[in-house]
Amino acid sequence: MNLDLLLVYGLPLLAIWAIYHLIQRRRSRRAAEVLAENREAGLVEPPSLHPVIDPARCLGCGSCARACPEETVLGIIDGKAQLVEPTMCIGHGACQTACPTHAITLVFGTATRGVDIPVVTPEFESTVPGLFIAGELGGMGLIKNAIEQGRQAIEHAATRARQRRAANPDALDLVIVGCGPAGIAASLGAMERELSFVTIDQSTLGGTVAHFPRGKLVMTAPAELPLIGKVRFAEIGKEKLLAFWEDVLAKTGLQPRFEEQVLKVERSGEGFDVTTSREVLRTRCVLLAIGRRGTPRPLDVPGEELDKVVYRLIDPEQYQGRAVTVVGGGDSALEAAARLAGQPGTRVTLSYRGTSYSRARARNRDAVAALVDDGAIAEYRGSHIRRITPGHIELEHQGELRTIANDDVIICAGGLLPTQFLHDMGVDVETKFGTR
Ligand SMILES: Cc1cc2nc3c(=O)[nH]c(=O)nc-3n(C[C@H](O)[C@H](O)[C@H](O)COP(=O)(O)OP(=O)(O)OC[C@H]3O[C@@H](n4cnc5c(N)ncnc54)[C@H](O)[C@@H]3O)c2cc1C
Ligand code: SF4
Repeated sequence: MNLDLLLVYGLPLLAIWAIYHLIQRRRSRRAAEVLAENREAGLVEPPSLHPVIDPARCLGCGSCARACPEETVLGIIDGKAQLVEPTMCIGHGACQTACPTHAITLVFGTATRGVDIPVVTPEFESTVPGLFIAGELGGMGLIKNAIEQGRQAIEHAATRARQRRAANPDALDLVIVGCGPAGIAASLGAMERELSFVTIDQSTLGGTVAHFPRGKLVMTAPAELPLIGKVRFAEIGKEKLLAFWEDVLAKTGLQPRFEEQVLKVERSGEGFDVTTSREVLRTRCVLLAIGRRGTPRPLDVPGEELDKVVYRLIDPEQYQGRAVTVVGGGDSALEAAARLAGQPGTRVTLSYRGTSYSRARARNRDAVAALVDDGAIAEYRGSHIRRITPGHIELEHQGELRTIANDDVIICAGGLLPTQFLHDMGVDVETKFGTR
């Protein structure tokens, strides 16, 4: 072959191949570092549905990682796909569809950590007759699935409630617990069928999405909402999605009850007594649409009921110039403390009952350590909040009770999962260890 031709065509191709190879190696190294960091922090268990990759079939083409809307969850390490951020996987399943060699299986739980999935009929009725389950609590994540299940479950719950009207003339047809996408779709279906019902949420409108960080992009496929029709969201910012739900409430007149927690659901004859944080409701049927994120774990200290106490940081800017105490030692507490410390004039106190942040990622530990060194965060490890008052917190540290000026408290002490709640209601659950 002519040497000139070889130089003209061969060298650029060689250069492209070398650059491509270099980029892949860098990505592989970065993915391996992230995976090692997560393993060190014990962040290895995906919350629910997630991919398992068969290395014998995987070509390392990266189609799965590119298809996943959560950009950092999958990575290619040494030519094979791996779940590098397991706790961030929300079960989109796009990876499985994208894989050309069928190397991906989607499963619930892992060999070491089972995931409890309530047993339900194809009509979404649990093993307790009259108690229905829809949305992520049933195992399937994603907004579209939650809407679809809420819509379908209500058809069957309505039939069951009507069958029970004669035996329970004074009861409600239905109590819907949760006002995320599943609860909203179910509530609209209940309105459409003219059922007597109430929808209750311990927090606010929109479910898990309402607690996403500001500006988070949500990917969701088209879905059908009762009374509203087909909605085509595709890729939508969190704020726009919440505004959409507000608009749905305004258009339909749906009035969920917020800031009210359902504490207990007890069978009573052919119906239920539902105990909330405000009253006891008598109902023929219950639809649980409470998701899987659980209820924030409280500190159980005097003053925790004050309005200034919250359980998540959503918008750091609202705390500018204020004295904020963050409680906890996991990733969410450390991330919250670091983000608050970046706000102008915000004084941050971080209180953690443990002595080392062993359950947090190294990058968050390092960020907090640097801010503590700079004096931007006042850190109290091995401390316990004893009381919260309107202007202070009382904190016990090294045998001393300190009173610290305070405007806001953010408690990031983890969540109480709904498993116990289901158990108390008598709902059978199946524990899945890496199976469908
Ligand atoms: C970080 C992250 C990113 C995500 N990104 C996407 C995405 O891009 N696209 C997508 O489709 N999905 C995404 N998801 C998943 C999606 O948010 C959930 O699958 C969906 O919100 C489930 O809807 P749901 O109605 O079943 O439950 P949830 O949205 O969890 O709503 C449950 C509601 O029940 C309430 N509740 C719970 N217990 C009680 C009680 N005892 N009493 C009263 N109320 C109670 C809660 O306050 C909550 O409002 C993401 C999830 C996370 C965590
Ligand atoms: S899409 Fe399939 S073959 Fe390609 S990297 Fe992912 S698991 Fe491997």
